[in-house]
Amino acid sequence: MKTYKVALVPGDGIGKEVVPAGRQVLEALAAADNTFRFDFEHFDWGGDYYRLHGAMMPADGLEMLKSKDAILFGSAGDPHIPDHITLWGLRLKICQGLDQYANVRPTRILPGIDAPLKRCRPEDLDWVIVRENTEGEYSGAGGRVHQGLPIEVATDLSVMTRAGVERIQRFGFKLAQSRQRKLLTLITKSNAQRHAMVMWDEVAAEVAKDFPDVKWDKELVDAATVRMVNRPASLDTIVATNLHADILSDLAAALAGSIGIGPTANINPERQFPSMFEPIHGSAFDIMGKGLANPVGTFWSAVMMLEHLGEPDAARRLMQAIEHVTANTRLHTRDLGGAATTVEVTSAVCAEVAVTARSPLATA
Ligand code: ATP
Repeated sequence: MKTYKVALVPGDGIGKEVVPAGRQVLEALAAADNTFRFDFEHFDWGGDYYRLHGAMMPADGLEMLKSKDAILFGSAGDPHIPDHITLWGLRLKICQGLDQYANVRPTRILPGIDAPLKRCRPEDLDWVIVRENTEGEYSGAGGRVHQGLPIEVATDLSVMTRAGVERIQRFGFKLAQSRQRKLLTLITKSNAQRHAMVMWDEVAAEVAKDFPDVKWDKELVDAATVRMVNRPASLDTIVATNLHADILSDLAAALAGSIGIGPTANINPERQFPSMFEPIHGSAFDIMGKGLANPVGTFWSAVMMLEHLGEPDAARRLMQAIEHVTANTRLHTRDLGGAATTVEVTSAVCAEVAVTARSPLATA
């Protein structure tokens, strides 16, 4: 029997509720499947760790993660610690340190979800946003000079390397090629940003030559927001820089019904380091500890983790179970207009996983 070593990093806020829920569902799936198992290790990094140790994770934290097959992450954020410390000290440290340069965010309107675009049918919205995850606007380069004085200067330098741009675009084209519509939209802003974004466009034109079967176009990031709302069916795979994709993927999540549903994979495509899977939502301290957190984003992230680990059948079964549960509005959490709790949704998905494992249709 195969054993997958998975690091659990719940982090802060509702991460501490949804990651244990994700573990429960993965354990139910493994028990029903009986061909693989998980060896979970829990890491208590985040805001509480910072209060005790002055850092969000230990100095050798990345080393501890390197021996794992995958990481299931919750969120980083604490009302009493500045956001740039929580983000850079944990999530970005892991993404950059383990070279997880491809951030992949699928968006669909799941069964039973009442999405806000009234003219959009569920089949019109089926996107994957590919976000550059290690450089660009979030490179961390820059600084502050004359701090606190009237002449203070502050810079955040966007760094785009040809190698970094080419690898993420190649990843995007490959992904587009693997999808039914073979359609890719490159998000740009080369009208206003006349150096790095012009290179970004040029590299795309070069990479595209290796993917003649992929139909592609370019869209300015501002126009892309309008297109996502007015013509969702014209989009399929979307490739964008770190900042642009950060914003577009939150819009995508809202258009699909709730920020509590969307998953993310932070992928190191060469598999030199483990990849990390997490819901797109943050720590949501306003609902923490109340049992209101929607665990579906974490469950869908677990589906992406199973796909990455090479367990496509288990991934499909878990996705079927999730969709079966979202289709039942009595099992909707408050963000979806329902009254179900995290525990109720988790138990329902676990029960469904057990049923589908026994059903002959599960392997069809
Ligand atoms: P952070 O600062 O860590 O990014 P945040 O609380 O500012 O976190 P989000 O967590 O992204 O931002 O979410 C914004 C709001 O959406 C939350 O305050 C919460 O009310 C709601 N929300 C987010 N995730 C969920 C979820 N999984 N289930 C239910 N509601 C959620």
